Amino acid sequence: MPVTPEQQAEIDELRGQTKPTLRAVSEGMEKHLYKAHDVLDHGFVRVIDYMGDDQAICQAARVSYGKGTKSVQNDEGLIRYLMRHWHSTPFEMCEIKLHVKLPVFVARQWIRHRTANVNEYSARYSILDREFYIPRAEDLAAQSVINNQGRGETLTGEEAERVLRYLKDDAGRAYDHYEEMISDEGQQGLARELARMNLPANIYTQWYWKVDLHNLFHFLRLRADSHAQYEIRVYADAICEMVKDWVPAAYGAFEDYRLGGATLSGKAVECIRRMVAGEKVTQETSGMSKGEWREFMGVVEG
Ligand SMILES: Cc1cc2nc3c(=O)[nH]c(=O)nc-3n(C[C@H](O)[C@H](O)[C@H](O)COP(=O)(O)OP(=O)(O)OC[C@H]3O[C@@H](n4cnc5c(N)ncnc54)[C@H](O)[C@@H]3O)c2cc1C
Repeated sequence: MPVTPEQQAEIDELRGQTKPTLRAVSEGMEKHLYKAHDVLDHGFVRVIDYMGDDQAICQAARVSYGKGTKSVQNDEGLIRYLMRHWHSTPFEMCEIKLHVKLPVFVARQWIRHRTANVNEYSARYSILDREFYIPRAEDLAAQSVINNQGRGETLTGEEAERVLRYLKDDAGRAYDHYEEMISDEGQQGLARELARMNLPANIYTQWYWKVDLHNLFHFLRLRADSHAQYEIRVYADAICEMVKDWVPAAYGAFEDYRLGGATLSGKAVECIRRMVAGEKVTQETSGMSKGEWREFMGVVEG
């Protein structure tokens, strides 16, 4: 269960209280505050706090005393300019604090993003819940034959059933032994910090994760990408929906220049120029490797 009835009651209570403030408020983000957005089978992501809005980015860029805002169009144009020219520090003026519940193997990928502040649930101090990520049948994929870091066809029939059975049985058995080892009934009981090493990587953990908008965009650029593993991509997708409501102009620029855009090498730019001039360019005449050419044609042909 992503959120228990008791946790939901706490969230509802927090959402029921309002306080006047002089700080910048993003109406779009207010509707997400504290609410848990379900991800995977037991996970969630929810906004605990945020600082700044689209205007805060413009204020910082203009180093202004007051609102620092011209018109909405002016602000949007400025934000697009900043994004286009990698003038990134104004985006660092906005921050977000998230509470994320995620499987440990997803957390291992996530924690590689070092430019954030993290506080994780302590499995030395507390007992982890019996909650494991078990993929849906349609997400049980075979190893990709063209990409060592990817997935291919969905598993079917007896093989799919067997894999699901192994995942559930092994996790359940490991947790039974974890509980047994830490129990102090009739024995000393193994320390939690040691017993946890028996738990599989699909068990859920939780953390608070605080990051500024510039580094969040970097995270989303990599993890909302189609090449990212599905299990982290769904978290990035959920965060994208929140960021879209929080800072619509900044997210629009990010979506256009980063998510929708492409980085081209000097050779690729040269090829485009030759193509526009009417020349038939092939991989052999492009000066690119086969892999580069395949990716380049993916950009050119869509
Ligand atoms: C599709 C995909 C596959 C991957 N495969 C692997 C893999 O097989 N093995 C593996 O180990 N990792 C893998 N990674 C992780 C990847 O190498 C990065 O560690 C991860 O994406 C975090 O990126 P980052 O370092 O740019 O982010 P952050 O840690 O948030 O850093 C942001 C930026 O800050 C700067 N920075 C931060 N810390 C330092 C520092 N100490 N020194 C210099 N500059 C710094 C860099 O400019 C960096 O880009 C993969 C990532 C993706 C998206």
